[in-house]
Amino acid sequence: RPTTVNHGHVSNSFLHDFLDEMQAENIKHHLRKFTRLPHLAGTQQNLDLAEQIRAEWMEFGLDSVELVPYDVLLSYPNQTNPNYISIVDHLGNEIFNTSLAEPVPEGYEDVTDIVPPYSAFSAKGQPEGELVYVNYGRTEDFFKLQRELGINCSGKILIARYGKIFRGNKVKNAMLAGAKGIVLFSDPADYCANGVEPYPDGWNLPGGGAQRGNVLNLNGAGDPLTPGYPAKEYTYRSGLEDAVGLPKIPVHPIGYHDAVHLLQHMGGPLPPDNWKGALNVSYRIGPGFMDGLNQNKVRMNIHTNNQVTRIYNVIGWIRGAVEPGWRPRRTLIFASWDAEEFGLLGSTEWAEKVRLYLFIYLSIYLSIYLSIYINGEEGMTLYQSWHKRDNSTERDAPWISKLGSGSDFEAYFIRLGIASGRARYTKNRKTERYSSYPVYHSVYETYEIVERFYDPSFRRLEAVARVRGGLIYSLADSLVLPLDCVEYAMSLTKYANSIYQLALKHPAAMQQHSVSFDSLFSAVENFTVAAGDFHQRLDQLDTSNALDVRMVNDQLMYLERAFIDPLGLPGRPFYRHIIFAPSSHNKYAGESFPGIYDALFDIENAVDQQKAWDEVKRQISIAAFTVNAAAETLKPFV
Ligand code: GLU
Ligand code: CA
Repeated sequence: RPTTVNHGHVSNSFLHDFLDEMQAENIKHHLRKFTRLPHLAGTQQNLDLAEQIRAEWMEFGLDSVELVPYDVLLSYPNQTNPNYISIVDHLGNEIFNTSLAEPVPEGYEDVTDIVPPYSAFSAKGQPEGELVYVNYGRTEDFFKLQRELGINCSGKILIARYGKIFRGNKVKNAMLAGAKGIVLFSDPADYCANGVEPYPDGWNLPGGGAQRGNVLNLNGAGDPLTPGYPAKEYTYRSGLEDAVGLPKIPVHPIGYHDAVHLLQHMGGPLPPDNWKGALNVSYRIGPGFMDGLNQNKVRMNIHTNNQVTRIYNVIGWIRGAVEPGWRPRRTLIFASWDAEEFGLLGSTEWAEKVRLYLFIYLSIYLSIYLSIYINGEEGMTLYQSWHKRDNSTERDAPWISKLGSGSDFEAYFIRLGIASGRARYTKNRKTERYSSYPVYHSVYETYEIVERFYDPSFRRLEAVARVRGGLIYSLADSLVLPLDCVEYAMSLTKYANSIYQLALKHPAAMQQHSVSFDSLFSAVENFTVAAGDFHQRLDQLDTSNALDVRMVNDQLMYLERAFIDPLGLPGRPFYRHIIFAPSSHNKYAGESFPGIYDALFDIENAVDQQKAWDEVKRQISIAAFTVNAAAETLKPFV
């Protein structure tokens, strides 16, 4: 949600001292300490780090810090029965096997417990079949494959390149297409920048590197066995058959050296041009291998286990007070979440546990996750470089994109309706959206890659820390919460226009089913007026009247709550925000008016047109009601 600091109530006396506390040297030291050993969620090393964070936060002067445990479903490779992919000949002999581990980078030769690349929560199994190449495995890739190229994925083993979207969505698409299994590989086209060497000589992904990560489709549920309730000792757990979001097929990640062996002899049609990666192979689609080798099949050997395991969040508090000896006006809660990689589990379980408290008292969630997605520019202020690189189309200001998901703010923002934000260096939005940086989730994501290539001076990380720190300072200490409802109104207007434009692609059907967006536009107009009036009253606010101040702060804080629909979005009960949700096709991306968007998606192919357009109308009415209801909360109390 867009924010501006415009009330001038922040006492700046301590801001400078506070920002000065954040020093490149300290960041370097902490990063070194936390990256020395592997610390997978649920392991002793990770508990050791949680204890260490607790001790340090106490030392830093927080009022209290505690470890908060939950017992959640995690997933680990079988230590005695490794995962790999084979090519098998007509006699069943394995004539090629993918590697069992990544070559360990220099300096880490003696480190034990490096978990090999695996897809967390993959189904077990040894499916065998013909290979089909599905590009990125996106919805549009499957449409092309099935509708235009006429290729049937049922009973096949798919191979998809990583990139563009969250990997869990690729797996879901593979299951929907009827595949028996899916192999995910990192293509140099997506994981090697031009003119950059593979690690350790540069920051590209080496050919033996592979991307780990969960392949769940949780839709905000958190722990797969305890949706809706915290995973404590006393909590009822569903059986694995009823668990939320587990894939039903084996999944496994490989690097591009191994991928060449699987791809190079594939038969079938040549791919569309934009399906070709950067390997020296044809990227033929299959199914199966070329003539002469078409007796050969691919077999996946996956033995990964799901296991209920204890995890630990670290939760620290600085209690807010208006009293001598500087404290922020508002209470600050610091959270170091466990098991983010396994599906945002620690953050979601805590949200389930203390949801009432959060719903009533939490005004802002600020995400501290991924700091440097790519290098920023030097020689100008951070604001200038952001402004220059990515200016908004609506006004002369740096661009702020929609929050999607794939990180721990999800339960707070999308489920509970708490205003949320993040700030980090990012890629150029126009050219590269979600493919992450090359060594992401590989063994080469080391301390040294930061020290040698990303930020040798640690000044960029320092800048990120100071931006986030400054944001926290002003959010915690401003008399009036620095949130701007007028900007929210502008965004709603933009989103309403764009969803309307999408619907207008079907003018005949719109007319036939009498679909109108009038109610939504009128709601957005009401919201815009209410927001303008609210800020006008805010300018007249008697700041010496504590009760008046508290009233406007409540209105600002609860505005985001007003966008929550207790019934949730269709089929996604934990995605309850009517304005924003993770895209149904890519968890990393945000979708605006997601209910309407999903109802319109691919509507021309719906079997029952009447039913499909009725759902569009229902979703428009839900959105219109919600925006109107939110506008009401901005009016003066009677
Ligand atoms: N951040 C992790 C990833 O990208 C987890 C995302 C998620 O489960 O939502 O793999
Ligand atoms: Ca739960």
